[in-house]
Amino acid sequence: MDKVVGWSLKSFRTLLVVASVTFPILVTFTLIRQNSTFDVVQGFNALTGRTQNTTTNVVKQGTQNATTADVLKQGSPNAGVQAGRQKDQNIIIRESAVDKILGDKNKNATPGILEERNQAITISDIGLKNHSFEDGKNVPSPPTTTIANDKLLDGLLVSSFDEASCLSRYQTYLYRKASPHKPSKYLISKLRDYEHLHRSCGPYTKFYNKIMRKGAKFSKNGTSTKCKYLVWTASNGLGNRIVTLAAAFLYAILTDRVLLVKFGADMFGLFCEPFPDSSWLLPRNFPYWKDQKHIETYESMLQNSRENSSQEFLPSFLILNLQHTHDGHNNFFHCDPSQDLLQKIPVLILLSDQYFVPSLFMIPSFRQDLSKMFPEKDTVFHHLGRYLLHPSNEPWEIIRKFYEAHLAKANERIGLQIRVFNTHRAPHQTIINEIMACALQHKLLPDFDIQKSTTSPLKKTSKAVLVASLFSEYGEKLKNMYQENTTVTMEVIRVYQPSHEERQKSNNDMHNIKAWTEIYLLSLCDALITSPKSTFGYVAHSLGGLKPWILQRAYGETIPNPPCRQAKSMEPCFHYPPKYDCRVNSTVDFTSLFHHMKHCEDVSSGLRLVNTNH
Ligand code: GDP
Repeated sequence: MDKVVGWSLKSFRTLLVVASVTFPILVTFTLIRQNSTFDVVQGFNALTGRTQNTTTNVVKQGTQNATTADVLKQGSPNAGVQAGRQKDQNIIIRESAVDKILGDKNKNATPGILEERNQAITISDIGLKNHSFEDGKNVPSPPTTTIANDKLLDGLLVSSFDEASCLSRYQTYLYRKASPHKPSKYLISKLRDYEHLHRSCGPYTKFYNKIMRKGAKFSKNGTSTKCKYLVWTASNGLGNRIVTLAAAFLYAILTDRVLLVKFGADMFGLFCEPFPDSSWLLPRNFPYWKDQKHIETYESMLQNSRENSSQEFLPSFLILNLQHTHDGHNNFFHCDPSQDLLQKIPVLILLSDQYFVPSLFMIPSFRQDLSKMFPEKDTVFHHLGRYLLHPSNEPWEIIRKFYEAHLAKANERIGLQIRVFNTHRAPHQTIINEIMACALQHKLLPDFDIQKSTTSPLKKTSKAVLVASLFSEYGEKLKNMYQENTTVTMEVIRVYQPSHEERQKSNNDMHNIKAWTEIYLLSLCDALITSPKSTFGYVAHSLGGLKPWILQRAYGETIPNPPCRQAKSMEPCFHYPPKYDCRVNSTVDFTSLFHHMKHCEDVSSGLRLVNTNH
């Protein structure tokens, strides 16, 4: 009996191997013969509305026979060949994503937009008008590696998620240029290890249940447990929340903790689940969901440990408050002895509104891991953000439709993020003048030519300007300027402002969806002008892998000179870094200790990680 089973298993295995080799070849061959629609270019066709014939030509001709014009139009000369090599799985995933986009597109065509004169459209609310791609010239750059690589962001993402549950995860690569910054192999292996940990220790696993049952009791020398947790809680605006989330995730990776997020109703609809086969949402039965008054704090623990050096009793739950309003530049979180203590606590509840990643680079015991994970120091948020933060289907639908309707057609997309803080608010016109001065100085937008008649023929190139601001005045003023004047380059400039909420609102889910949508749209632009000290802008430029032009803060009616400066790095700025040198027990400027930390262009006492490898 054993022998028969053994033989049939063996035969079955052989059959399976032969079938798995021949079947994809047959399917691929048949698909090429039948309609050639699975070429990589199809992904861009879907966005651009190019006709299927063009695609078919490129696929049929391969690389050698494609004309220069074809190649220029289609992008990478290898694109067709690479696509032909894709596995079945990729073909299926791409087709379903693309079909959806094509389906929408075909229903709503927008006629001849490129023929219009400088036109500006202000949308009072995030537009769900379903326009389509007209012309294939202005879509994101074609993939430079294989689709699988692009789609999985060079290995940052795993392919095992259900695509429909989070469309943005595997579609963003169609809208954003492929990043020139590749994640290190070590970072990828740390992410896979983290996913494994999260799967084993996540909500409702036996380890999770055990530690939650225990509650905040003290134990002798701390509780020893296989699984430890870092609970992220929200404070401040969405930009602050997102930068802290990325910092918390990195801290969780470095300390083998499971990251759980305490999302209120205003955060639920924003992001997809980032970790496979588990959830990052803190269950509602978490013992301190509402009341955290009875939990020990980090400060009191430090105090106790100073007074009682044996640290005999440690709590199971601890509040780690790193908010800037709590202790400003003064905490000891970046000191190794603090980390030794924190390491013994099973559940840390983090309160923070800061991008405290530079602090992690100051901690000697993390340094080696960090430099292996991030050989390019200024890519921390860029990689972790693209791994962690996928718009869930509702915001993604808005992002995708807005992009397709207004941004995809342009040759270049310029994002303007205009955040005006209430203190020292400069008049709108001063800020507009400053933005124009910055944009002209750095050739992001063309100047006006008052000599040329508005009936002179326009160039067939265009720029789309995406304005993100709480106030409608900015989009409107810029729109009018470009509508009423001809540009020296005769380019068509269109201005779009998706929303104007007038004020920052809290506990409002739609307000946060709009904010997240605009942050994400900005991150899909080719160049950004951002406002100083704004975490909203940091998230956008860091996700997009861009070094923005940061406006200088304007006072009164004076336009600062220079109006803007380019950031040295893609990283967000840590506004309130520590000033205390743990080894020598005195204050220090950390830029003198670490050459990969510099003061931020927009916050002189802040710190930003910069790349020092070039
Ligand atoms: P920061 O204060 O500039 O660092 O950014 P935050 O995102 O932390 O807080 C500002 C909040 O105000 C955002 O989260 C939004 O709720 C709102 N907000 C500010 N600027 C804009 C904008 O341009 N568009 C939208 N939709 N909301 C904005």
